[in-house]
Amino acid sequence: MFLRHTTSEIKERTALAINPAKTCQPVGAMYAALGVHRCLPHSHGSQGCCSYHRSMLTRHYKEPVMASTSSFTEGSSVFGGQANMLQAIDTIFRTYEPDIIAIHTTCLSETIGDDLVQIAQKANTDGKVPEGKFVMNTNTPSYVGSHVTGFSNMVRDFAKYFSQSSGTKVKQLNIFPGWVEPGDMREMKRLMDTMGVNYVMLPDTADVLDAPQTGTHEFFPKGGTTIAEMNSMGDSKYSLACGWWSSRDAAIAVENKCKVKFDNLEIPYGLRATDRFLQAVSKYAGKKIPESITDERGRLMDMITDMHQYLYGKRVALWGDPDQLIPLCEFLVDMDMRPVYVVSGTPGKRFMQRMEEVLAPIPEAKFKNGMNADMFLMHQWIKQEPVDLLIGNTFGKYIARDENVPFVRHGWPIIDRVGHPVFPTVGYSGAMRLLEKILDAFLTKKDVESPEESFELVL
Ligand code: SF4
Repeated sequence: MFLRHTTSEIKERTALAINPAKTCQPVGAMYAALGVHRCLPHSHGSQGCCSYHRSMLTRHYKEPVMASTSSFTEGSSVFGGQANMLQAIDTIFRTYEPDIIAIHTTCLSETIGDDLVQIAQKANTDGKVPEGKFVMNTNTPSYVGSHVTGFSNMVRDFAKYFSQSSGTKVKQLNIFPGWVEPGDMREMKRLMDTMGVNYVMLPDTADVLDAPQTGTHEFFPKGGTTIAEMNSMGDSKYSLACGWWSSRDAAIAVENKCKVKFDNLEIPYGLRATDRFLQAVSKYAGKKIPESITDERGRLMDMITDMHQYLYGKRVALWGDPDQLIPLCEFLVDMDMRPVYVVSGTPGKRFMQRMEEVLAPIPEAKFKNGMNADMFLMHQWIKQEPVDLLIGNTFGKYIARDENVPFVRHGWPIIDRVGHPVFPTVGYSGAMRLLEKILDAFLTKKDVESPEESFELVL
């Protein structure tokens, strides 16, 4: 009983978050920067922040996550971190030879007020940035937003910094996939390749955080969006931003800089969000959805039909990032399941608006986002009226154990399982995988808890 002190009585809280359903901005910025080829994320702050963010990413992806730090000490905390950062830029280019150093701030450097733009300019004028190499930066103050905000800020600033317009449009789409797994990015690319679409995906962590084992350590793995690809984004016909929170700002940046119009979609989790994604790709790329993809949809429909008898009416609690929760809840409602409790630590009014629409068929649903929308509140709701299933990141395992509820891990971070970043949950195939995991969780519980006289071979 890890959470034995959680009570069902809910008291109004204004300043206190208990077990927040989010983490801090720089970890998202670090993840986004890893999706750019030969880019080294750099944390401008103390070593502790950088170590924490690297270790969380390493634990989730089970890959060595490379990042550098300005290593603030007492002196830099008082006088500012310019000297540390200039020294770091010099050392990083000489030692690790990245093409880009992507700097993000931390609470400490934000509080001091270090001017990253000015420091990066000084690094250039002091000759610390070799020819053809780049130093770019984004601000990621952790006392606002969440890890999703940091991801969005970094993607936006890559798009703003590198996109260029030659004046001639090319038949190409910009795809901002949002914060999804490397396997999800690979799946989105597979779908577009199958449709014969030209695209640039930013960021792209496939073959970076799920790089093949070759027997040789590559400091910069082969994946990631290249500088040339980012440059070409300004000439694309259209941008598709998957995720209001994680991708929209990047699409706006390219529109403002290079006049590339965009459409904002939800991340293609589940049936309807995947339909919308493929229809948008088809419309803006001028390509038909081929029969092989329609067949995948048909297989998903068949699986939904087969599983409906087990999943109908099941009550679900979910937590995580808004760009994931909205389409996931839509999918569960399509399955006639009942997402009754939903929390996200990432703020933004749109969450409540969208959830009201998506959860309109579930009048008993409770949902909340922002500061006090934490795991403690969700547990209290569960104490008041239990659920049949939990869906979210690793931090839900305490509730799952205490309440004896089946638990499907989804989202970020998942630090107590291995292999998940490789397998997509986007697209029709991803939806099938998700359904299999959900049903498996239910039926495993049934098998474990059935008395011998009703322990059945066929379920
Ligand atoms: S919240 Fe601030 S101090 Fe804490 S790890 Fe994140 S950036 Fe560092």
